[in-house]
Amino acid sequence: MQGVMSQEIKRLIRPELAGLEPYVPIHPFEVVSRRLGRPPEQIVKLDANENPYGPSPRAVEAIVRYPWLHIYPDPQSTELREALADYLGVPADRILVGNGADELIDLIGRLVLSPGDAMLDCPPTFGMYALCAAVNGAHLISVPRRPDFSLDVDAIERLAEGQPAGGCDRPKLLFLCSPNNPDGGLLPAADLERLLRLPLLVVVDEAYIEFARPGASFVPWVAHHPNLAVLRTFSKWAGLGGLRVGYGVFPPAIAEQLWKIKPPYNVNVAGSRAALASLADREYLLSNVARLVAERERLYAELARFPFLEPVPGSQSNFVLCRVLDRDARQLKLDLEEQGVLVRHFAKPGVDNCLRISVGRPEQTDALVEALCAMV
Ligand SMILES: *Cc1c(COP(=O)(O)O)cnc(C)c1O
Repeated sequence: MQGVMSQEIKRLIRPELAGLEPYVPIHPFEVVSRRLGRPPEQIVKLDANENPYGPSPRAVEAIVRYPWLHIYPDPQSTELREALADYLGVPADRILVGNGADELIDLIGRLVLSPGDAMLDCPPTFGMYALCAAVNGAHLISVPRRPDFSLDVDAIERLAEGQPAGGCDRPKLLFLCSPNNPDGGLLPAADLERLLRLPLLVVVDEAYIEFARPGASFVPWVAHHPNLAVLRTFSKWAGLGGLRVGYGVFPPAIAEQLWKIKPPYNVNVAGSRAALASLADREYLLSNVARLVAERERLYAELARFPFLEPVPGSQSNFVLCRVLDRDARQLKLDLEEQGVLVRHFAKPGVDNCLRISVGRPEQTDALVEALCAMV
């Protein structure tokens, strides 16, 4: 009986989703702490590009003092969008706020992709873009990056301009990431210029742009390109990963449509208040960003001293990608975990046998280096 029931239920699920690989869960920090038998403050968490300095104290205070937790949030995030307009120098009506940048990726996919449509990504890159194609029943065309992580613009152009192939139409959507997760490299302006001539929507994910050299953002370009959207988040630079606040800058024709499909209460009041307070306290937050940028350079230099590690130079983000030579990166990750140091392991094309290490506080770099020294 049980078997028949579950078969019946399975029949109701969209077949393209039923075949999806299950999501590999990221264990809550408390669970990791229990498993390793270490209190959270003794775990060096360098696996998710979180901000080790945490949020602005003013962001925390803003939540605690907010008197209307029992009232639904403003569906239009009016106050936050106005503050963001001021921060970015773009009109507020081009900005949409989401439950993290992740929600905006999801909404863009739902807006653009019908089942059977094609979408492009350039791996190795952030995994949410591929998921976005899958949940919409879209055909994902991956255009791998070169060994130095630069984009194969010629190949993207051929695919976007060429004849429909493989039973699907021209791709409608291209996700790019700058700085790219996991290598930390920036998207060259000349590449984006070429890609914006293609007949598709280009989304540039700038989740880590605050860690990059000044002037690297493409937000100012949105005003001149009807097919460019730029995504940002408070998760990394402002230390609000747990509160889920991201935003995007969109051309008017896209923004107008996104408003229709956005869940009305997607941004909660705690996140909204914290984001506003973060913008008001950005001098403090950006001083932490500056510390992380300096520490990134030290982390890179420290990693480069180990003969079995080959860090990728030039990260403009808050992490360093590292090739592991002559030993198994997965085992190295597990050995580090035993020492209370968490890093991210990759075993995918382009980043096979690699670790991605987030930039932490100086003492966290020291703990990592000490653990690595024990493994030489
Ligand atoms: C962390 C990350 C995000 C997620 O941002 P949220 O606002 O926390 O959803 C988006 N894009 C990239 C490339 C990321 O690494």
